[in-house]
Amino acid sequence: MAAYNHFAQMTISQPLKTVLKSAISGLTMLALFSLNASAQTAHTNPWETTELGVLPPIASMTDGVWLKGELHVHSRHSKESSNNSIAKIIAFSKAVGIDYVCITDHDNHVNGDVAHNTWADPEFKSNDVLLLYGGEWTTTRGHGNVFSARPYDHQRLYDVRDQRDVVIGAVKKQLNIHLSANHPSGKDHFGYSYDMVNSIEVWNSAIWSKNANAIMIWDDMLSSGRKLTGRGGSDAHHGTPEGTEQPGKNTYQAKANYVGTPTTWVFATAKTSQAVVDALTNGRVSISSNPYAPRVEFYADINEDGKMDMMMGDNVKATGKPVKFRVQLSGKTVSDSTYTINIVKNGDPFGTYQAKGKQPVIEFTDTPALIGRTYYRVTVEGPSTPYPQVPLSEKLSGNMVGLSNPIFFNFDPNF
Ligand SMILES: [Zn+2]
Ligand SMILES: [Zn+2]
Repeated sequence: MAAYNHFAQMTISQPLKTVLKSAISGLTMLALFSLNASAQTAHTNPWETTELGVLPPIASMTDGVWLKGELHVHSRHSKESSNNSIAKIIAFSKAVGIDYVCITDHDNHVNGDVAHNTWADPEFKSNDVLLLYGGEWTTTRGHGNVFSARPYDHQRLYDVRDQRDVVIGAVKKQLNIHLSANHPSGKDHFGYSYDMVNSIEVWNSAIWSKNANAIMIWDDMLSSGRKLTGRGGSDAHHGTPEGTEQPGKNTYQAKANYVGTPTTWVFATAKTSQAVVDALTNGRVSISSNPYAPRVEFYADINEDGKMDMMMGDNVKATGKPVKFRVQLSGKTVSDSTYTINIVKNGDPFGTYQAKGKQPVIEFTDTPALIGRTYYRVTVEGPSTPYPQVPLSEKLSGNMVGLSNPIFFNFDPNF
């Protein structure tokens, strides 16, 4: 309204001379505009999607193992953590069947020297649980986690934290690490370019409801061609006091949010740390509310032979022919319960299905566009699964059971 009034006043109050003058310049503008218009028809965008080259072949569908893990947990090497020694985290993980853990202590609490703190802790070893090397890159522009199968020079990443993205990106590349954006819509959200990251924390802590904006950011990044893996992380800081340990003011959190809330599943080629990191990078990943909740698996049959050819994280060229998709829940489902399976296509709701039984399965068919990118991903809602070791988490994750990574068509692997 204000803008309209301003415009009206201008036209009335201008003397005739000025009006004529502006009419002439208007004509010139018109001439210029038509010039531009003809130039525009000839314009070609050098960034326009072109024919994709040969895509990497799809990895084996059978040669691998499902592993469940925790990708965001703080030990006593983070200052605000309480009653959470590394030994306690590992023992708990083993007890609930967690296969891999990345202890991600705040690097700023040790001036970037994660190597001589978390990784040098005599308790940082396990014969049962795969331990990834990592840390929470804790900066004024937000937080990110590093996942690595072997020790790397974390100090270098810490030292460049206040530099421009182009500098940080080069260091990240040299270190050959997997970098992940943490709690992207919450406090201390990841504030760097998403071009530098391999994954995004779309499910932070047992409180599922606070992750809606993280999912929105993920869909924006996927829609713009970034093949980012979605992963979970409890971000737990506090353990349950044992022996002579005194409870702290945040001890109550240990019963609501701890290792495995949520749980990130990977389909890895082997039970090794490197295979876990590779699976995270490639996106053969789904997230469940806790280690006992059913696992979401998402497959596609691309050549109508009734056999599934690809799974979440995989990317192929669209053929223009219909694709049959399958969503199945594996593991312990809550008997006689109905699960609601929501399909998201290119960021928009595509379909809702119901499934029940011992191994709930649904199938649907769609034809991904021959030209341009398409992705499909899945979220599953239904009865919550009890997690007796973290009893209050069940209520916080509510009816959110799990979610898959997308199946991709025509994504540029060199983006
Ligand atoms: Zn953080
Ligand atoms: Zn954290």
